[in-house]
Amino acid sequence: MEKILNYINGELVPPASGQWLDNYNPAIGKVYSQIPDSDSKDIENAVLAAKNAFPAWSTMPLGERSNILLKIAEGVDREFESLAKAESDDNGKPVKLAKAVDIPRASANMRFFATAILHFESQAHQTDQQAINYTTRSPLGVVGCISPWNLPLYLFTWKIAPALAAGCTVVAKPSELTPMTAYLFSKICKEAGLPAGVLNIVHGLGSKAGQAIIEHPEVVAISFTGGTTTGKTIAATAAPMFKKLSLELGGKNPNIIFSDCDFDEAVSTSVISSFSNQGEICLCGSRILVERSIYDRFVEAFITKVKKLVVGDPADDNTRVGALVSEGHMNKVLSYIELAKEEGGKVMTGGERVIVKGRCEDGYFVAPTVILGLDQQCRTNQEEIFGPVVTIMPFDKEGEVIEFANSTAYGLSATIWTENLKRAHRVAHQLKSGIVWVNCWLLRDLRTPFGGMKQSGVGREGGWEALRFFTEQKNICIKL
Ligand code: NAD
Repeated sequence: MEKILNYINGELVPPASGQWLDNYNPAIGKVYSQIPDSDSKDIENAVLAAKNAFPAWSTMPLGERSNILLKIAEGVDREFESLAKAESDDNGKPVKLAKAVDIPRASANMRFFATAILHFESQAHQTDQQAINYTTRSPLGVVGCISPWNLPLYLFTWKIAPALAAGCTVVAKPSELTPMTAYLFSKICKEAGLPAGVLNIVHGLGSKAGQAIIEHPEVVAISFTGGTTTGKTIAATAAPMFKKLSLELGGKNPNIIFSDCDFDEAVSTSVISSFSNQGEICLCGSRILVERSIYDRFVEAFITKVKKLVVGDPADDNTRVGALVSEGHMNKVLSYIELAKEEGGKVMTGGERVIVKGRCEDGYFVAPTVILGLDQQCRTNQEEIFGPVVTIMPFDKEGEVIEFANSTAYGLSATIWTENLKRAHRVAHQLKSGIVWVNCWLLRDLRTPFGGMKQSGVGREGGWEALRFFTEQKNICIKL
């Protein structure tokens, strides 16, 4: 069976302990490779390598650093097919989706930050006729990047690309559930000539390898994407050590449909924003709020389309909904559907595990599920399910829907459907969400700041924000 290796100091190496973890393909419900069960010894080696690599990497001329990162992007493009397959084998998502979204966006992340750093600026301020201040920005040092399983290579590169571009050296840990693309990526980095120790990828459990990164005194900043509960644990460890923290956490995103929307477009895109990647995107709209005058019509059109979504083998091009990432996660999602019923919800379609015939008969598939009849405050509408489950609720007034939309502890994203420009601006401004999409979903401009409000996170990533995060400022004041 294939063994995934750590990438430390430019070499692909087994874990120091010699211990391995099973890696499942969730679509077939079987182990298909093994990953290092790394511990603090591996992290120590990785941090030492990153520390040794920092002086040369942080002072390398920007053009050279940029060229190496661009070569990595080219490597991702070259390995497009194998990365898309690996992404699907690890995660259960349709290969078609990995090809359309995950891998192109991973390549774009590398390219964007490789070139953004060439245009990064700092400021100067003249204080009347007395002094000139100029501000420098220097790479922080060794940083930790920890990513989740839902968009494995896409979010892994989202963290490491700005860190490397800014001149930091990195100890990174992908999710133990989806390690394969990061492993293939480490081979791409070697081929691209990334100097040894600049990026170190250590595989293993969050509570062991991940925690060791957070606790390490030489790791000066942490960029983390994952669950809100994990984010709290990380903050509790890192904050008293005064580490710089960027936390991208969970969401419970409202999708607001006003009666003056482009109805067909709102229905079609809502199906995608609800069930894309099996609903395992932090930005999926899981609470659909529909103005009462079009509620019945919307529910009927929406459910008709949802019933047509093909749940099946991720390798099949017709599949729209693949497997959930693990048996544990599937059971969690199914338990939330049971909870919704206990809370008085009516399951209109889906609501159960799907057995896909053939090679996937032991896979972890759940039918796209639509639930009506719940109130805003019930647990189903307050807690992140992170699966193919949405609720639909009616509303009467604009003020009321803003209150509903803002009623959870989360504030990651929101979507508004209306053809009324004034309303779009008015409502968008009142939503407590880090990003608001109007008449679209998941459109991305890498220059914009990205991140959540409330318990969806701390800090902003994307564009200059990410490069700022991985650099520290110094002001030099010179008397004239
Ligand atoms: P998770 O929090 O369980 O794990 C995320 C990563 O953290 C994994 O690599 C894991 O091994 C590691 N980890 C776990 N415990 C750790 C610890 N104590 N110290 C250090 N690292 C630790 O999250 P997940 O289940 O992999 O991902 C799903 C969650 O991620 C959802 O809540 C989703 O909303 C969120 N998410 C957020 C965004 C965003 O941009 N805001 C994007 C994608 C996913």
